[in-house]
Amino acid sequence: MKSQNLLRKSITIALFTGASIMSVNALAQNDAKLSYKTEKITDTIYMLSGEGGFTGGNVGLSVGSDGVAMIDNGLSSTIDILKAEIAEITEQPIDYLINTHIHGDHIGNNHIFGKDGARIVSHENLRASLIKDEKNGGPASFPVLTFNDQMTIHLNGDAAQIIHFDHAHTDGDAVVYFKNDNVLHTGDIMFNKVFPFIDGNNGGSVDGVIRALEGIAAMINDQTKVIPGHGPLANKADVLRTLAMVKDAKSLVGKMVAAGKSNSEVLKANPLAVYESYSWGFITTEKMTEQVLTGFAK
Ligand SMILES: [Zn+2]
Repeated sequence: MKSQNLLRKSITIALFTGASIMSVNALAQNDAKLSYKTEKITDTIYMLSGEGGFTGGNVGLSVGSDGVAMIDNGLSSTIDILKAEIAEITEQPIDYLINTHIHGDHIGNNHIFGKDGARIVSHENLRASLIKDEKNGGPASFPVLTFNDQMTIHLNGDAAQIIHFDHAHTDGDAVVYFKNDNVLHTGDIMFNKVFPFIDGNNGGSVDGVIRALEGIAAMINDQTKVIPGHGPLANKADVLRTLAMVKDAKSLVGKMVAAGKSNSEVLKANPLAVYESYSWGFITTEKMTEQVLTGFAK
């Protein structure tokens, strides 16, 4: 459970600082032991995740004779250790860089890899939001290949299906499914074993998260390796457990709303107390209740 506690603490730091990714970077730089570790998931696919502190979201890599596709790229402060870790796996440059969503702990190094020649791929809403954001990393950080519904990159003997789920964690989410390798990266639609963060300010919604988790569950099987946005490697049972929890949370809160309770009455009653074990620093049962209530707002 040590890594679980670290995950909770780490995401808390990222979310409390919100737009101030610089603060997170300062924290990361002060941690001398911060590093990436690599798990080889299949012959061609790797998961890179942080150790010793917060590096950002889990990174996926497809490496083979056709080239390299990378999913997400961590906080900007982690560029040196990220590049060093990638160099241990391959000397090839990154050909495609897929962004799962707009948060800085997932796309903090777009500008670096973009300048290095990677073609950045994202949902069209992500590109539009990034261009509007004054704190973006400049044109080199902008996706050059965008899609509305889904697209596929054929490489390394597999088809990387990049699929959009609308208004889930944000309004520009993508999950990436390597069908032959049977590996799926969820982005932040799923955190393993903790409440999800639903970013309403960026177009996220509870119903969207439920639809996305249902969609993911329908695509995969019991052998699928699921790379969550944060936390340890997961599987279909983890996806189904998360889905059941979010649906039940919606039902528990919804019953109180239907009974005419005000938001403050619902919060006071703490209907999600049964899910206390899913709480972490930023998304407590109260905050999760607030996220769910947003979906019932008229
Ligand atoms: Zn996120």
